[in-house]
Amino acid sequence: EKTITVSTTMVQILVIGATGFMGQLVTKASLATEHPTHLLLRPGSVTPSKAAIVKSFQDKGATLIYGVINDKDFMEKILKDYNIDIVISLVGGDNLLDQLALVEAIKSVKTIKRFLPSEFGHDVDRANPVEPGLTMYKEKRLIRRKTEESGIPYTYLCCNSIASWPYYDNCHPSKIPPPLDQFQIYGDGNVKAYFVDGNDIGKFTMKGIDDIRTLNKIVHFRPSSNCYTINELASLWEKKIGRTIPRVTISEDYLLAAAAENRIPESVVASFTHDIFIKGCQVNFNTDGPKDVEISTLYPDEKFRSLEDCFEDFVPMIHERMMEEG
Ligand code: NDP
Repeated sequence: EKTITVSTTMVQILVIGATGFMGQLVTKASLATEHPTHLLLRPGSVTPSKAAIVKSFQDKGATLIYGVINDKDFMEKILKDYNIDIVISLVGGDNLLDQLALVEAIKSVKTIKRFLPSEFGHDVDRANPVEPGLTMYKEKRLIRRKTEESGIPYTYLCCNSIASWPYYDNCHPSKIPPPLDQFQIYGDGNVKAYFVDGNDIGKFTMKGIDDIRTLNKIVHFRPSSNCYTINELASLWEKKIGRTIPRVTISEDYLLAAAAENRIPESVVASFTHDIFIKGCQVNFNTDGPKDVEISTLYPDEKFRSLEDCFEDFVPMIHERMMEEG
């Protein structure tokens, strides 16, 4: 017989941005916990694929609430009406400042036990990408400062890169398999970065939401099994598909020029690619400060899915494509 473990500390969770790229991963993980999960959805027309995602969340028990976070009075009302304890925001790069009104609402109701602002990337107080990525970081920093000034209990989740080939012009890379024609290697290709499976980002986010050890902390995802240079990533992919692929160098200047074109969102991704693979922004600092926590030290028995396994997911996609091409 199946045993259901009911936590003594059941919490009411509100996820904002559940239909987004990262939001879907976190929502899936939240619905797999025993905590009631409420989703704030933007009203208006939705694509059939978004409607199907929302339906699947609803089928798994999510409560749907329609509205926007930039309406402070509305947010105050729903935080109270649904007795929300934990707010997880996953709004995208264009809407980060909409969180200013959300922070005001959380400050007013005073009952929120934890706020996770839309971070889910690098430590924005430490990393300093070139523009246009810097503007996004300035906005994330502003939300951090407003949260701290308001005395809101928070956790900043820095999950680093999502496991996939890091194309310099694509913001949602895990949807595309690694290349078959040629590898574009950034700089000398020897700078390390962390590549975390999307489902693990969700799983570990949920572990941390009501953990006292992550309260008012910056939580870093640095699993040792997922730390690769882009040269190592290329070799891993070659091993998976059983053949070698030519490598071309994408220089630092090339990435800077792609960033300077200021095409949104591609240039934002180019500026982050430069920061990660040229400057080493994921690995060029220690996480031993008083506000830092490394997630694998908190849950040593919980394994991260290895990058070897994550890349396995792309192999069937490639075989399909090869069959099509004859
Ligand atoms: P998306 O653009 O894919 O999704 C944003 C979501 O927020 C959508 O569901 C959108 O609703 C919702 N939303 C936007 N504005 C509002 C608002 N005012 N009120 C309510 N809901 C709103 O975002 P991403 O998943 O790309 O980004 C989320 C976070 O993750 C960002 O901080 C980003 O920097 C980070 N990220 C990290 C990556 C990594 O590799 N580590 C990769 C990609 C993102 P609607 O459906 O109506 O549009």
